[in-house]
Amino acid sequence: MQPLVTRFPPSPTGFLHIGGARTALFNWLLARQQQGTFVLRIEDTDRARSTQEMTNAILEGMTWLGMDWDQGPYFQSERTDIYNKYVDQLLETGHAYYCQCTPEQVEAMRTKARKEGRKPKYDGTCRERGLGPGPGRVVRFKTPLTGKTIYEDLIKGSVAVDNQELDDFIIRRADGSPIYHMSVVVDDALMKVTHIIRGDDHESNTPKQVLLYKALGFDVPQFGHVPMILGPDKKKLSKRHGATSVMVYRDMGYLPEAMINYLARLGWSHGDQEIFSREELIEHFSTDHLGKSASVFDMDKLNWLNAHYIKEADIDRLAHILAWHFERMGYADLDKDFLKTIIPLYQPRAKTMQEMADQALFFILDAQAIEYDPKAVRKFLKPEHREHLRNLHARFANLPTFDQKSLENVAAAYLEDQNIKFKAIAQPIRVALTGKTVSPGLFETMEALGKEQTLARMKRAMELPEE
Ligand code: GLU
Repeated sequence: MQPLVTRFPPSPTGFLHIGGARTALFNWLLARQQQGTFVLRIEDTDRARSTQEMTNAILEGMTWLGMDWDQGPYFQSERTDIYNKYVDQLLETGHAYYCQCTPEQVEAMRTKARKEGRKPKYDGTCRERGLGPGPGRVVRFKTPLTGKTIYEDLIKGSVAVDNQELDDFIIRRADGSPIYHMSVVVDDALMKVTHIIRGDDHESNTPKQVLLYKALGFDVPQFGHVPMILGPDKKKLSKRHGATSVMVYRDMGYLPEAMINYLARLGWSHGDQEIFSREELIEHFSTDHLGKSASVFDMDKLNWLNAHYIKEADIDRLAHILAWHFERMGYADLDKDFLKTIIPLYQPRAKTMQEMADQALFFILDAQAIEYDPKAVRKFLKPEHREHLRNLHARFANLPTFDQKSLENVAAAYLEDQNIKFKAIAQPIRVALTGKTVSPGLFETMEALGKEQTLARMKRAMELPEE
């Protein structure tokens, strides 16, 4: 049997987006499962819109998601001669012809056809003229006038298109550059691609490409067109719905394994299982379970998965990621060991690493840099609260070991002496330590902050101007 080869051929005219990453993932999973080959090809034939920056961004996205490639990246911009050789072959074998109709003439044909209730297409003026090359002449493919083009779609089943519906489409522009259908077919054939999973926005291209494969004498690969991803309003996912670039999800604090798990489930299923390790995805992936209907991008589900993977993740790794987020917020060179002590306080509940960084910011600031929420100060740092802080400060200061248990004992004794409830001191201490009213457990927080910072913050809170 022919070895399985899949490919991901992004155009570097934009970042790696959610839809592209999902397509890449399905192809990658299929290749990994079948011990096949995964080819990465940069379709940069649109010189005006393709940039090196976008190419780098796409490679960065693939790498971040852990989708490694076995061949490439190939660059189509370096392969023009190859495509042209095959255009010439089609001319020689009578599958293509030169056409000298101007774009205005072609537009007029289309308008006329529309008026007459026919499908707007090139009317074949030059089809049998036997023209040779010349300035302003494009090369058109000689689409059969009758019959059907048929292919088996892995997802949609058998597809048959009347050739009459198709145009004599251009395969080489007047400036000598081959067009997308030509480059994609030649590359897929030469790179021995056997399976092409792509978005169904390409479905209308497929019959034309199948005709090209056949005319060039190449084997037609297996196509599978996955339905689009929709936003919550059931319209095609776009910037209006929020971030579409994969790397923005990294910046928002999502873990790559959560993204991969999430993307895999956008259009693919394995029973009712939701959580998949990378190994499980590779093991279970099958094109048989790619869905026919569009999937809706669901942020809540992504958050749920991300929270799951944050819970599961290794602390050393999370410390590294958290440090990265802090660095982006302007706090560089943080002590990793310190970050490792605060991560467990957030790990059970954090939805994203950025959220963790935002919430844990007070930990890495010096007592003098804490920003106090004026509302919290008004409510929880009244004179009577400050009195408690002063008393507790003195007691905490005497502690030889500054751990949760000892802190709790000191607090309990104080509550008893004063005959007050925990409530009377909890928020005042929390606001003193963090500047706000929400934080992880009080004593855990104090232990993680350490004696010096805890006492310094209580002192600062006592001395804050009254609101
Ligand atoms: N470069 C095309 C795109 O980014 C790929 C088309 C294909 O998968 O054949 O849409």
